[in-house]
Amino acid sequence: MDTRLTARSTPTQPATVLRIAGEAIGGPAFTVIAGPCSVEGREMLLQSAALVRASGARLLRGGAFKPRTSPYVFRGLGAAALEMLAEAREATGLPIVTELMDARDIDLVDAVADVIQIGARNMQNFSLLAAVGERGTPVLLKRGMSATVTELLLAAEHIMAHGNSQVILCERGIRTFETSTRNTLDISAIPVLKRETHLPVIVDPSHAAGRADLVPALAAAAVAVGADGLIVEVHPDPATALSDGAQSLTFDAFAEMMRVLSPLAEACGRQLEIPVALPLGARDALLVEAGAPAALRVCA
Ligand code: PEP
Ligand code: MN
Repeated sequence: MDTRLTARSTPTQPATVLRIAGEAIGGPAFTVIAGPCSVEGREMLLQSAALVRASGARLLRGGAFKPRTSPYVFRGLGAAALEMLAEAREATGLPIVTELMDARDIDLVDAVADVIQIGARNMQNFSLLAAVGERGTPVLLKRGMSATVTELLLAAEHIMAHGNSQVILCERGIRTFETSTRNTLDISAIPVLKRETHLPVIVDPSHAAGRADLVPALAAAAVAVGADGLIVEVHPDPATALSDGAQSLTFDAFAEMMRVLSPLAEACGRQLEIPVALPLGARDALLVEAGAPAALRVCA
């Protein structure tokens, strides 16, 4: 018998369902996490939170500490962004997913995050895995861009071996010889992972594609192969985004994608509920008054 903490020892072992501030990841729900790549400011974050919530997202993503390939570009607003994320949660009720890059920031990030994201570049940063393993906060562990499925599972094992059993795995595309997409979404990894582990598995179609136009197709594929949810980048004006604009969906594109995914999820035996359509004008009210509790009642 496989005694690893991540292992699904028998085919009948139930999948783990994580409960994050009232939201479930795993089980019958298909859970969508959405928001900007980076928190660029208060208003854009509050707008994004209100609009992704109105389209059916259940958690809000937003980077405060950003891993960037070049040291000369925007690297996140840091602690100020964490405060904005806390405000967005207060305004919308959406739990927060945000990345921890450096164990020295763990207290700061853990004070706000409902889910701590460990990015692809840090999947095998074993001291960082140990640090989040010692906390009780759920961890979203992204697959390294050149990591095998086994290496991803062993990275999760590091977190669990330190005592934190609340781990969500994320397939976000791997490096291949193909250049038409930023990464290659390893769609097979999802059914492989679902067989090998009891942990929830979600897909990041945004970093896999690197192109907004491909995101809905990859998201649909994720539903079809049995993923437990998605993490998707959405921006009020992708053309001016300070990071990952090319792969970020507009609010309208996100809303449309969610409308298409909902019946698909149902056909696959999963639940993806979209709040009732907003009355005419309410969407604009949301945009203008994002952050004001009264404005949010229209999509409650
Ligand atoms: C991100 O989620 O914005 C990110 C940097 O993702 P990854 O670690 O998968 O590249
Ligand atoms: Mn990004």
